[in-house]
Amino acid sequence: GRPGCECNNCFEGADCSVRTPDCTVNADSGDPMFLEPYWMRHAEASAVVFSGWHRMSYRATDGLFQSVELERSIKQLHRAVGNAVADDKHIVFGTGSSQLLSALVYALSPDSNSGSSAGVVATAPYYAAYKTSTVLFDSQENHWEGNTAMWANASGNSTNNEDIIEFVTSPNNPDTQLRKPVVGGASAIVDHAYYWPHFTHIPEPSDEDVMVFTASKLSGHASSRFGWALIRDEKVVQRVNDYIQQNTMGASRDTQLRMLSVIKAIVANLHGEDDIFAFGQDVMTAKWRKLNAVVSRSRRISLQKIPPQYCTYLGKIREPSPAYAWVKCEREEDDDCYDMLLKAKIITRPGVWSEASSRYTRVSLLRSQDDFDLLLKRLTELVDAEKDTT
Ligand code: PMP
Repeated sequence: GRPGCECNNCFEGADCSVRTPDCTVNADSGDPMFLEPYWMRHAEASAVVFSGWHRMSYRATDGLFQSVELERSIKQLHRAVGNAVADDKHIVFGTGSSQLLSALVYALSPDSNSGSSAGVVATAPYYAAYKTSTVLFDSQENHWEGNTAMWANASGNSTNNEDIIEFVTSPNNPDTQLRKPVVGGASAIVDHAYYWPHFTHIPEPSDEDVMVFTASKLSGHASSRFGWALIRDEKVVQRVNDYIQQNTMGASRDTQLRMLSVIKAIVANLHGEDDIFAFGQDVMTAKWRKLNAVVSRSRRISLQKIPPQYCTYLGKIREPSPAYAWVKCEREEDDDCYDMLLKAKIITRPGVWSEASSRYTRVSLLRSQDDFDLLLKRLTELVDAEKDTT
């Protein structure tokens, strides 16, 4: 059971197991609840209890905001998974990776007295917060410049792009493709939120100058608001630290304690009987397979195509297991795919948020098994109804 659980709109009862009739299923946010069963099995090993007097100071070892032991554990995890070269990078903690994304835009922008302003870009379809946060924190030193599609001609000319900051998400949110920076000469912020074997094969360790990760999609602890950046350049590190110092004075030390325990539990089980990545990949692959079985009967909606690929971590060719389905509405009259699915009682995230066509909408597969089962039921009803209309 889930004592003390917080039910969403489709479920009720003491352990959130009773379905409310006819409810509209939420497949919108990327809430990573699919990992909850893993932590229920590892409840003791991941538990943190500490007394009132413990860790009260603003600062940790050597007057820093960061636990050196947690830094070590994170680097150990990257080495073991082989998804990023971390050992030669500096590591900076943030309150969620969201804070680090803003800190990095600041850090990679020109000095305030230089008179120039960096343009922040991303390739559509992109994670909407890159735009919304850049616009919200707009300053003299940077501004939202838009989709790199407009940069296609300029990108060959690297001397023009010094003042461009490019957000790159790999695998991408929403369409789950692996990506590389496309604007030559720009500073790239490579967001690897989903570069874990739950969601993608790992072809090789990533070795970009600036890489960002989040606990939200690694362990599923979105509530802890913990992310980290791996940064090569000392000057960039200093500016990110300046931002963090002004903004929150470091990631919560309670959170750092919880993350240490969570990451230690992950590392202790790697390649063992209950490896979090083997579990995550199994769960997500099963969802993708079931979803494809339903959608392949449809002429009204379709999904992105992902081939099976060799994963260096799992040591085998693996089936796809994306975090999101990027759904396309194929019929002429369904030009608002979000709206079409909403009428079928499924809440998704409109493609237009990512600067894609309204024919696309994003379906989250990261949520709980209950949410997914209900999603599949609604989709099956939708696809079954096609027979009646043709
Ligand atoms: N980057 C990407 C690509 C994301 O999808 C998300 C969360 N959905 C984030 C960053 C932010 O995550 P958090 O602030 O929880 O670390």
